[in-house]
Amino acid sequence: MNQITILIPAYNEEEVLYPLYERLCDVFDSLPLFEFEILFVNDGSRDNTMSIIKALRKSDPRISFVDLTRNFGKEIAMMAGFDYAKGDAVIIIDADLQDPPELIPEMIKYWQDGFEDVYAKRRTRAGETWFKKWTSSLFYSLLQKFSSIPIQPNTGDFRLLDRRCIEALKQMRETQRYTKGMFSWIGFNKKEILFDRDARLAGKTKWNYIKLIDLAIEGITSFTTKPLRISALFGFAISLFAFIYIVWIVFKTLIYGESVAGYPSLMTVVLFLGGIQLLSLGVIGEYLGRIFNETKKRPLYFVNEYNDFKKMAE
Ligand code: UDP
Ligand code: MG
Repeated sequence: MNQITILIPAYNEEEVLYPLYERLCDVFDSLPLFEFEILFVNDGSRDNTMSIIKALRKSDPRISFVDLTRNFGKEIAMMAGFDYAKGDAVIIIDADLQDPPELIPEMIKYWQDGFEDVYAKRRTRAGETWFKKWTSSLFYSLLQKFSSIPIQPNTGDFRLLDRRCIEALKQMRETQRYTKGMFSWIGFNKKEILFDRDARLAGKTKWNYIKLIDLAIEGITSFTTKPLRISALFGFAISLFAFIYIVWIVFKTLIYGESVAGYPSLMTVVLFLGGIQLLSLGVIGEYLGRIFNETKKRPLYFVNEYNDFKKMAE
């Protein structure tokens, strides 16, 4: 019998766990031909999330959990899930029921047809402000322009991954992770399905705009070095322009003489060049920072407990 792991990263989700469990059980009942594992990754929650998961586990042996030692962020929590998942396929789903579990049978159907990465694309997004939707579409189009791998817009982490994809992702152990890009990068046979995204059932989103900006920079810098190229080209263009200007000034001075003026043009040039230099340094700094973080080769996360067993490093 095929085993399927439902991977749920959870951070302060006490209000939604029971409804989530109920809805998952209903879906499981409609799929008697599969064995399910529900793998919660508790990402350092500060509320009762962990005790609720433990209580659920007492009554249902299908439930497993990995308890991380602190909040590592969703990307790392998913990685921990990949490491511990036992299934032949893994379905990643948010705890807050924004991703409807009722889509699972359709995903499994396509998996059986031979697709290895069945991802759910949002047709609509309820409960999100127009500003969030707008910034998110802007980000996707920017990322698409910069990087050479296609990244599916309006697609979250809600997807079914075959064991082969999981094994591929497990080999990508970089600390600063942009998992959405990795899903495309690894390739494999992909299938898109559409759904309407609901609003969060309860609790608050853990996102804010600072995190989103971080993720945007993360997304771009982890998949392409084009910003470095662009600042180099910019530097080249400006140098060329400056050279022409210098020649012009020298000739002008030789022919007409110079009556010290030109404060405005001097200021403009100095400020403009200063700005460009700082910007380019910033871009280089971003990449340097990534190199610094990756060279440390730290483990991605630490585990407190896995299914009631104390555990240390991974
Ligand atoms: N999450 C996590 N660690 C974090 C933040 C979020 O494991 O540091 C989980 C969270 O519990 C939820 C999922 O990631 O299951 C998506 O989070 P959220 O709903 O806050 O994001 P949004 O849907 O607003 O993008
Ligand atoms: Mg959510």
